[in-house]
Amino acid sequence: MSWHPHLWHPTTQVAVAPEPLRVLGARGCLLELEDGRRLIDAISSWWVTLHGHAEPSIAAAIGRQALELEQVIFANFSHGPAEQLATRLAALTGLNRLFFSDNGSTAVEVALKIAWQWWRNQGSDRRQLIAFEGAYHGDTFGAMALGDRSIFTDPYDALLFDVARIPWPHTHWGDENLEQREAESLRQLEIALQTPTAALIVEPLIQGASGMRMVRASFLREVQKLLKASGALLIADEVMAGFGRTGSLFASQRAALQPDLMALSKGLTGGFLPMGATMASERLYQGFISENPSHTFFHGHSFTANPLGCAAALASLDLLQQNPERFQQFEARHIPQLEQLSLHSQVARVRCLGTMAAFELESGANSYLNPVGRLIQRLCLEKGVFLRPLGNVVYLLPPLGISDSQLQQCYGALEWAISQLP
Ligand code: PMP
Repeated sequence: MSWHPHLWHPTTQVAVAPEPLRVLGARGCLLELEDGRRLIDAISSWWVTLHGHAEPSIAAAIGRQALELEQVIFANFSHGPAEQLATRLAALTGLNRLFFSDNGSTAVEVALKIAWQWWRNQGSDRRQLIAFEGAYHGDTFGAMALGDRSIFTDPYDALLFDVARIPWPHTHWGDENLEQREAESLRQLEIALQTPTAALIVEPLIQGASGMRMVRASFLREVQKLLKASGALLIADEVMAGFGRTGSLFASQRAALQPDLMALSKGLTGGFLPMGATMASERLYQGFISENPSHTFFHGHSFTANPLGCAAALASLDLLQQNPERFQQFEARHIPQLEQLSLHSQVARVRCLGTMAAFELESGANSYLNPVGRLIQRLCLEKGVFLRPLGNVVYLLPPLGISDSQLQQCYGALEWAISQLP
């Protein structure tokens, strides 16, 4: 097999990457390859596959919906699946309004634009935006600007607007000096907030793409306190962390945060269809209702509120709400196996949150470009497990439906792969 002459793969350097594996199908946690192999999808296909692949109730809901109404322009029209989904997500998030888009990046763009314009509609010129070091919010321009600068954004640097950047006091098992680092971060936030601030955006509890970096809920509550005192808006980017990943339905709930805006995607449709949702408080929504046409939120995507996506999301929510123990109790499944792994001399800075477990390999630089990740990926593939480490950060983020023996197989593959490292 060789690279296809007409495809361009995401985040892939063809000069060094292995050729893509051809997949014919997927069931549950298993990817079925053309060459007959079966691989455990231990990262939920870029964190989207929530329950498992080809989950029958979601597939059936999409099929039923496709025969009723597959798509309709969402300006001038509304429909049942969108209304039901908005009603349910409003109740679950505590944020009363749902604005639809297509993916995680657009869900963030929408949150940013709502926050920014809301202040202007109020006649306020608050300009500062605050985000954290190591943040990742997506690959479109606004989302890139909010994210920290990295090899992902370097070529576009001149086009990205400035954001005040606060340290992210991430932690792990056996951490030291954490209080000091949290205090320093809060001190810097206090200084930043002396400038009139429109909003702060945060990946609550866990930064994903920068290396599964977790903070304490108590730190985020202090951030929230300072923010609310300044009047600035809080945007929770739950694109990765939403829908049970952190052990609660939403990370903001686990951390006891009350954001003004919440960006959702990935698990929203159970991982079946691309869809983004930005939840906004009623207060923000009301700030756009005016006789003045320039107060309108002039933003819309062709596939806004796609009925198939809504049907998938409703079926996925049913599954989540029928089996809350599947996400609430997931952490306890990781911990004993992680403890075992942490005995290995090259395994450092172990952490776990809900369905997500991560550690760093003491091998070369702490960097996305550290080749040890590719080596671990290759070795685990030999044991039937698909992983995609972020440089020397190795993590598991499996679908909720993974069986105990499959999870065991993932840890077994990791044990073996690490033992093979030079
Ligand atoms: N925000 C966060 C926290 C994410 O993890 C991601 C994707 N990894 C995004 C935004 C962007 O989502 P998408 O890739 O769907 O545009």
